[in-house]
Amino acid sequence: MEKKESRPLPHELERMPSKERQKHLEERMREIIAYAYEKAPAVRERFDNAGVKPADIRTIKDLGKIPMVTKDDLIALQKADPPFGGYLAVPMDSLERIYQSPGPIYDPQRKRGFGTGGGMGPDFGKGQIVMNTWSYHVTPAGLGVDQLLRSMGFTVVPMGTGNTELQVQIMRDLKVHGFVGTPSFLKIIIDKAEEKGYNFKKDFNLKWAMVSGEMGGEPLRKLFQDKYGIFCMGGDAYATADVGTVATGCDKQSGMHITADAIVEIVDPVTGEQLGTGEEGEVVVTPFDEVYPLIRFGTGDLSMFVDEPCGCGRTTPRLTKILGRSGEAVRVRGMFVHPKQTDEVIARFPEIRCYQLVVTRPQHRDEMVLIVELADKHLEPIRLGTSKAEISLPVEREKLKNALDKTFRDVCKVKFDRMEFVYSGYIREDDKHIIDRRKY
Ligand SMILES: [Zn+2]
Repeated sequence: MEKKESRPLPHELERMPSKERQKHLEERMREIIAYAYEKAPAVRERFDNAGVKPADIRTIKDLGKIPMVTKDDLIALQKADPPFGGYLAVPMDSLERIYQSPGPIYDPQRKRGFGTGGGMGPDFGKGQIVMNTWSYHVTPAGLGVDQLLRSMGFTVVPMGTGNTELQVQIMRDLKVHGFVGTPSFLKIIIDKAEEKGYNFKKDFNLKWAMVSGEMGGEPLRKLFQDKYGIFCMGGDAYATADVGTVATGCDKQSGMHITADAIVEIVDPVTGEQLGTGEEGEVVVTPFDEVYPLIRFGTGDLSMFVDEPCGCGRTTPRLTKILGRSGEAVRVRGMFVHPKQTDEVIARFPEIRCYQLVVTRPQHRDEMVLIVELADKHLEPIRLGTSKAEISLPVEREKLKNALDKTFRDVCKVKFDRMEFVYSGYIREDDKHIIDRRKY
């Protein structure tokens, strides 16, 4: 692919007015699409099947004309045409590495690796030792992040996962400055150090951590910062094995800035329609990648754009945290309801043994019915001779319903229509918590 000499650098792109950036991004998008159509047979086939020519795609909006490729599609494509399902756009013998991620899906090492460090210079990390605890085996995380850190000037200790004792020893011996990995693993290392009698804050030199890869890492991040004085860089980062880095946080910790090295869309996972700022949907990524040009890769992850200005000076839109997986969530009246959320609601009511949320669509309007089964001791006595203990415990159903209604609205941002109590045993242990019975 031919490069234009005047192309702005990533950190310039991240700070320019959004109209201007969009012009550059769309130019690169047209280039990668023309290139992928020519070099990657799978891309050509998908375009032809949809009756779309590369020239039809001029703007980000036009991207909607191309069908998404999902993880499941990739698995099937790779089975039919191994190993890369027709998406490899360079000769096989030019690849430096091949990874495998769960699926299984084979990933050729991408040209863009895990990003550019947000345009930070090559001396940014000079003189600092970083422990990289992402796995170096088979999956792209370890080596990808390793490459990124070295390009920023850091000295990397390629720790990989596990072996907590050794992690503690090396972290102390080498006076390691930075940690990269999951928040829960850093917590395990700190706990181990304390267990060995160290005062982590005094005896170690850990100044910052770039922790990601888990949902709900905020409480740990706060603990690292408040208790141990470890600055948590960037708040979070979001990357996938298939498309590399999608978004990275900044020190304002108010969401993750999308990369300037890809087109990122938020779409309705059912209809595929592009959604606007503040609407929850699936993250769809078109990386500017000449090795493995996945055009419109549907990550299956749910998130939302925020577009308010950020204190760090970048003007790129941000993603909120990843809100769940699209396969498990249902979209009801414009909002996604995820089993994680409904579980959270129900967990606050010990008097409920199990529940199900059933979504239907009578008269073209989504309807949600919450079905609950009370824990045995809260059941109302139904026959004479019931023991005293049982009589004294029945819950006030109306009160419970009102409390549930409020909590549900708080957590899920949408209201259920009805609530029904069912007899004990109606809901089976392995039943799904959210059932979508809508027919369109
Ligand atoms: Zn920012």
